[in-house]
Amino acid sequence: AKRAGSGLLRHFHPAMKESLRQRIGLESALREALDRQEFFLCYQPQVCADSGRTVGMEALLRWRHPEYGLIPPVHFIPLAEAGGQIGRIGAWVIDQACAQLAAWRQAGHAQLYVAVNISPVQLIDPGLEHVLLKAVAAHGIQPGELELEITESVLIEDPDRMVERFLALRELGFRLSIDDFGSGYSSLSYLRVLPVQAFKLDRSFVDGLCQDATSFEICASTIALARKLKLDVVAEGVETEEQAHRLRELGCPVFQGYLYSAPLEAEAAGLYLAQASGP
Ligand code: C2E
Ligand code: CA
Ligand code: CA
Ligand code: CA
Repeated sequence: AKRAGSGLLRHFHPAMKESLRQRIGLESALREALDRQEFFLCYQPQVCADSGRTVGMEALLRWRHPEYGLIPPVHFIPLAEAGGQIGRIGAWVIDQACAQLAAWRQAGHAQLYVAVNISPVQLIDPGLEHVLLKAVAAHGIQPGELELEITESVLIEDPDRMVERFLALRELGFRLSIDDFGSGYSSLSYLRVLPVQAFKLDRSFVDGLCQDATSFEICASTIALARKLKLDVVAEGVETEEQAHRLRELGCPVFQGYLYSAPLEAEAAGLYLAQASGP
């Protein structure tokens, strides 16, 4: 018998048909992933440009599927946002990151913050405050020790509403940073009212820093702007000594990238911290 939907699929290129099937499989696997404990966090150090000391750790979500293997966040985060699971998954990330910071505190790392990525879908949910406060209280850490990275692109669609969300989170004491700064085409005028503590200079500009004049100028002016506004700035995706050297000359205070470390599983990140902070 002819199955419903086959008429539609017949016109797809075979490769597309396969990817559609994969996508549907992924969506249903994603609904179960949290309960099956298939998620874990990796942590990537953010290091002081001068001393090399680790000042922060960015938590990056990983999904290990029993059949498909490791699925990168760029593939499943959009599915989780569209499918309504991002709230629960994001809450798990926040709780897990707070638990990890508390453990590192116990191990003697006093000056350290943990950064988590907040999806735009999470940001507009008024339940986010409760999730955050519950996590910091459960693990005995201060809101100011948790940094929320929010991508610049959230400011494009409904900036006034987003500014209100930033203000509400800042009022509770959380550290806020603008992720992918410079890539979102948002208006700089919002900087007057956004209560943020840091910018993260987008990796694409750091990539081009040593090759093209435009990237260099964007890095230079972002760093200068941050310094004038008395904000921190973290350069993302620092891969070479030459990039680090140039960024240091431009006055960038914090670096993150493969030159220092790839994202590490919790245990390896703990070892990195123990080594980097010396005897
Ligand atoms: P992002 O927040 O911009 O994270 C930085 C990405 O750059 C990470 O990719 C990191 O592994 C990668 N990276 C770090 N250093 C280097 C480098 O030196 N060179 C290169 N080429 N890449 C580097 P990852 O872990 O695949 O994450 C991709 C994106 O997925 C993140 O971009 C973030 O937007 C999102 N994401 C990750 N974890 C979460 C999460 O827990 N929640 C949400 N909502 N989004 C997340
Ligand atoms: Ca980030
Ligand atoms: Ca980023
Ligand atoms: Ca990015």
